Amino acid sequence: MAPHAIRIIGDPVLKQRASDVTRVDGAFVKLIDDMFVTMYDAPGVGLAAPQIGVQQRFFVFDYDDEPGVIINPTIVESRGEAEFTEGCLSVPGLHWEIIRPAEMHVTGFDLDGRELNLELDDFACRVFQHEIDHLDGVLLVEHLTKEQLDEARVALMDLRMNNAGPLPEPEVGSSRLRLR
Ligand code: ZN
Repeated sequence: MAPHAIRIIGDPVLKQRASDVTRVDGAFVKLIDDMFVTMYDAPGVGLAAPQIGVQQRFFVFDYDDEPGVIINPTIVESRGEAEFTEGCLSVPGLHWEIIRPAEMHVTGFDLDGRELNLELDDFACRVFQHEIDHLDGVLLVEHLTKEQLDEARVALMDLRMNNAGPLPEPEVGSSRLRLR
């Protein structure tokens, strides 16, 4: 069994912007290992931390048998347009043709703290855009055309109602807590 449950559309954690990773320690490395197991078990080619309920900016990927992780990724530049059939482990069973930039320059860090400087195109570019979206609290359904969304509305409603996770814990000092 996968070490983590993958959060499904409707779970509020998928709508929040994740925070920068500030500490890489043994627990973090273990978390990365567990994310790979969860991703392969799904199976998928990318898994972002918010998809397992961790609000930090990193994701694991393996789209060409070269597993990798990127921490605090930044899109420096993106160019062109490409159409791909895209799905998401957090929106299971549904796929759409989605247009996004065709090429992109991304920076970030690997697990050893080395700076990554990546020129991406084709499928790699698509995977990275999709996963970076997750770090910003954006799901692929936000890229659908009105027609695609209309067609998928019932299926999406069904996923949301049957799989939504628990509401987030109120942060200490938040207004929700003070009202009690
Ligand atoms: Zn996804």
